[in-house]
Amino acid sequence: MEKKLVVNLKWCKGCGICAAFCPKGVLVIKKEKVTIEDISKCILCGQCEQRCPDYAIYIEEVED
Ligand code: SF4
Ligand code: SF4
Repeated sequence: MEKKLVVNLKWCKGCGICAAFCPKGVLVIKKEKVTIEDISKCILCGQCEQRCPDYAIYIEEVED
């Protein structure tokens, strides 16, 4: 199983909590939505998923 970071922009209100807690600086807020600025830095730690109050960002397991 491969894991990937998913953003549901419909649910994101651009609060910036995920970006503030990301230890790798992967996430940036642009036009009141979260943007994955550099996915290559993401260590899939799950901090963004745990901190988002709106369940708008999460790690998903995908079949490879
Ligand atoms: S999983 Fe971790 S490293 Fe990746 S974007 Fe979320 S907080 Fe940042
Ligand atoms: S914490 Fe959730 S709602 Fe806030 S900017 Fe991040 S993804 Fe969007």
